[in-house]
Amino acid sequence: MAQLNIRKPNGTRDVVPSQMYKWNTVEAIVKSQAEAYGFKEIRIPTFEDMGLFVRSVGDTTDVVQKEMYSVSATGDKSGDNASAYALRPEGTAGTIRALIENGLLNDGLPQKLFYVLSCFRHEKPQAGRLREFHQFGVEMAGTQDPRADAEVISLAKSILDMAGLKNIQLNINSIGCPECRAKYQQALRDYFKPNLDKMCDTCHSRYEKNPLRLLDCKSEICSEIAKDAPVIIDYLCDDCRTHFEDLQKYLTAMGIDFAVNPKIVRGLDYYTKTVFEFVSTDIGSQGTVCGGGRYDGLIEQLGGKPTPALGFGMGLERLILTMENQGAEFADEETCDIYIGSMGSAAAVKAMQICRALRNDGVRAECDVVGRSVRAQMKYADKLKAKFSVMIGDSELESGSVKLKDMQSGEQTDIALDDEFGAVFSAMLIAKQLESEGLDGALTDFVGNS
Ligand code: ATP
Ligand code: MG
Repeated sequence: MAQLNIRKPNGTRDVVPSQMYKWNTVEAIVKSQAEAYGFKEIRIPTFEDMGLFVRSVGDTTDVVQKEMYSVSATGDKSGDNASAYALRPEGTAGTIRALIENGLLNDGLPQKLFYVLSCFRHEKPQAGRLREFHQFGVEMAGTQDPRADAEVISLAKSILDMAGLKNIQLNINSIGCPECRAKYQQALRDYFKPNLDKMCDTCHSRYEKNPLRLLDCKSEICSEIAKDAPVIIDYLCDDCRTHFEDLQKYLTAMGIDFAVNPKIVRGLDYYTKTVFEFVSTDIGSQGTVCGGGRYDGLIEQLGGKPTPALGFGMGLERLILTMENQGAEFADEETCDIYIGSMGSAAAVKAMQICRALRNDGVRAECDVVGRSVRAQMKYADKLKAKFSVMIGDSELESGSVKLKDMQSGEQTDIALDDEFGAVFSAMLIAKQLESEGLDGALTDFVGNS
C-alpha cells in the first residue's frame, strides 16, 4: 500500500514544543496588559455566517473578494450551504456579533473585550504573511470620546514595549465620518477619472462602489497613480477634526510618540474617524504589527442599537518574528522540576507514588514509564533539563532516605522518603528559584530590615 505523505497546508505553521515558550511569552504579555487596562476575554466561533464578513469587512475589500475561505459540510451535497459559512478572516466582526447577540450592550458601557484567536485569509504565503495566523485583538464599545482612542492605542503601545520591540512607529490618521467621506469620495473620483482607463479591473469597480479602496490597490500602476491623490484629512468636518486633534493631545500627554500619516486608510471598510498602525521597520514589507481604529457605524449596521466603538488587531506571528529579528527576550522555557529514577520493581512503584503526589501539588515531576536502565534514565533526565533528580533503589527503600541531586551544581542532599517529601522538595525548589533570580540575599535583607 502506498504510504500517505500528507504535509501541512500551504501558509500554515506548526508550533513545535521547543518553540512554544515564545507563544507563551507573548500571550502572557497581551493577556496581562489587556487585563491591566480592564478588558475581559471573549471566545467566539472559528466560522460564522459568510454574510457577517461581507457586510462588516466590506464587499469591495480584498479580504472579502479574494481571501475568504468558505466552509461546507462533506455531507451537504445540495450545494445550498456551500458558501453559507466562512472561516473568520479577522476578529472584530464575530466579536461585535457576539456583543449584540448576548445583550452585552445592555450592561455597563463601555464594554471592553479582548481575544486571542486564529484568522484565515487566502493570501500569498511569505514571511509574516500566512493563511492561518493569530491575532490578539481588543474591542471597546459605547464611547465616542477620543480618550477611548488614546486608551486603546496606549494598550497596544504598552504591549509592544513590554515585548521589548524597538524601531516601531505609530502612524495615525482620521478617515472621517460618512458626512466628510461623501465629499472626499467625490474628490477621489475627480482625481482618478482621467487615469481610470490605465487602472486594473478591480479598481474600476472600486471607482464605482467605494473609491476609498482605490488607495490600497497593490498593483504597481494603480499605486503609482494613487500617489498624489487627495488626502482625507483635508476634507474632515469640524467634529472629526476636533476629535482627531484631541486624540493627538491625549497621546502627547501620555508620552506616546506618533506621526500623522494621511495616507493610511486600512484594508477594512468598517473604519470611521481614527485609524492607526504600529509599523516595524525591521520585517520588510510585512511590517504592520498592529492595526486598528474606530468603527462607529458597525454595531448599528450589524443590527445592534447605534453604539460607537473601536479596537485593534495585532498579528502574533509578526510580533514574534519582530522580537526574534531584534533579539528581544522571551521568558524561559519551563522544564522538569524533578526526575524520580528507580531501580527494581518495588522502587518503580514508589517512584510512581511520589510522582503522583508531587504532580498533585503542581510540581513538574517525571518518572520512568519506559523500563530504562538507570544510566538511560539519568540521560533522559538530562535531556529533560530536570532541575533535580533522585534515584530510588532497594537500599533507599530500606533506609527510607534518598539523595536529592541538584542537576546543575551536582550537590547532593539527603531527604527522607516519607509523607513530608513533597513539602521539603517544594521548599528547596523555591529556594533554588530565588537563588537563580539573585533574590535569595535580597529577600533575607528585605525580611531582615522590615
Ligand atoms: P497587511 O497590510 O499587512 O495586509 P492588514 O491591513 O490586512 O495587514 P488587518 O486586517 O488590520 O491587517 O489585521 C491586523 C493585523 O493582523 C495586521 O497588522 C497583521 O499584524 C496581522 N495580519 C494580517 N494579515 C496577516 C497574514 N496574512 N498573516 C499574518 N499576519 C497577518
Ligand atoms: Mg492584508
